[in-house]
Amino acid sequence: MKYKEKPWLGDPQKTIAVLQKYGFRFQKKFGQNFLIDPHVLDKITAAAEIREDDFVVEIGPGIGTLTQYLAHAAGEVCAVEIDRNLIPILEDTLSAWDNVTVIREDILNLDLKALAEKKNQGKPIKIVANLPYYITTPIVMGLLEKKVPMKSMTVMVQKEVAQRMQAAPGSKDYGALSLAVQYYAEPYLAANVPPNCFIPRPNVGSAVIRLNCREHPPVRTENETLMFRLIRAAFNQRRKTLLNGLRNDGGLGLTREQAEEALSACGLSETVRGETLGLEEYAALADYISRWETSKK
Ligand code: SAM
Repeated sequence: MKYKEKPWLGDPQKTIAVLQKYGFRFQKKFGQNFLIDPHVLDKITAAAEIREDDFVVEIGPGIGTLTQYLAHAAGEVCAVEIDRNLIPILEDTLSAWDNVTVIREDILNLDLKALAEKKNQGKPIKIVANLPYYITTPIVMGLLEKKVPMKSMTVMVQKEVAQRMQAAPGSKDYGALSLAVQYYAEPYLAANVPPNCFIPRPNVGSAVIRLNCREHPPVRTENETLMFRLIRAAFNQRRKTLLNGLRNDGGLGLTREQAEEALSACGLSETVRGETLGLEEYAALADYISRWETSKK
């Protein structure tokens, strides 16, 4: 059969026993904080709504704790782990499941689009992970921007990052990450998780966030790249006006007059701040500037 019954890994005693058996040493540079709370593991699996026909990619399986829960619920799991010292451990802890493949690779170098194509016939996959916090944003944004076919990403992140992903215009956590995540996905907070659910304990609170990937973006723009450049320019200069953010960004190459004209054409005041605008306004600005650049050529 493809699984053995609970109890699996996921409590402190079993985790410590595995770590001691293999003399495993945590590597800070890999953001290793392993889950040791079965309730949290159940919550992540429930939030991800894993079904028998799902193809799940887990980023950073560690010693395979969450992987066991996923393998129990999913059709197939592919776990991508950077730390070669964990590979023999995973071979051991996952030996009772025949629907798990472990790939030793840096997730940032793996072509997940090709993997989904090969292993799941190009159908959308589900991502589930207790992410290494040092590269949360590059991982999440990389997968969204590369348009990997995904139904959802259910990931443990720093609590502050989860708040930023969900934030609405005008709130203190709102920023470029909020706009970028919400362009590609709808975020839902599934659980807050305190440091004592991990070994070793992180210095920060954590949260499980589910990003439901959109089939179509919520706004249309003729120039997605320019829209995100404008967003970055707006938030590089937080608490400054959008006008200053736009004209001080050398990469955009806008004069003060041009920036004023673009704002006015989009019905925005010269004193407006970038942190009060939503995707629609950024899309309108990008379209205006883009058309204008095209007409200059
Ligand atoms: N999933 C395990 C758990 O919940 O107990 C471990 C989670 S731990 C927070 C993050 C895991 O990601 C570690 O196993 C770490 O070695 C791995 N990792 C770190 N950077 C990675 C990368 N660039 N690519 C793949 N795995 C990575």
